[in-house]
Amino acid sequence: MEFIDRVLTCNDCGAEFIFTAGEQLFFYDKQFKNDPKHCKQCKAKRVRGGPRVRSETRTTCSECASETTVPFKPTQGRPVLCRSCFQKQGAKPTPAGQPPPEGAPEPTPDRS
Ligand SMILES: [Zn+2]
Ligand SMILES: [Zn+2]
Repeated sequence: MEFIDRVLTCNDCGAEFIFTAGEQLFFYDKQFKNDPKHCKQCKAKRVRGGPRVRSETRTTCSECASETTVPFKPTQGRPVLCRSCFQKQGAKPTPAGQPPPEGAPEPTPDRS
């Protein structure tokens, strides 16, 4: 199998970049089926901005009214708690990206 340098176009900025024979060999080795879609600059940008981007939603704690972020989309009418209130409630942390299941413990009203 022989590889020659190829000129590809970046999907992001439209710049042309070289998909070198060496890189093609690497791709072939890893059995990557698709050509790279981004130039080096855009790839670097993506890597740098990558891990920081998380789908957290800004919301207000229904217990103490302080601003907080949750790893899921809060449902209308459902109480959303900040981390400290959540821990005070003694609730088990929900797996990221999953709303609490139906019938999850609601804040218990004081019964006196
Ligand atoms: Zn680019
Ligand atoms: Zn709170």
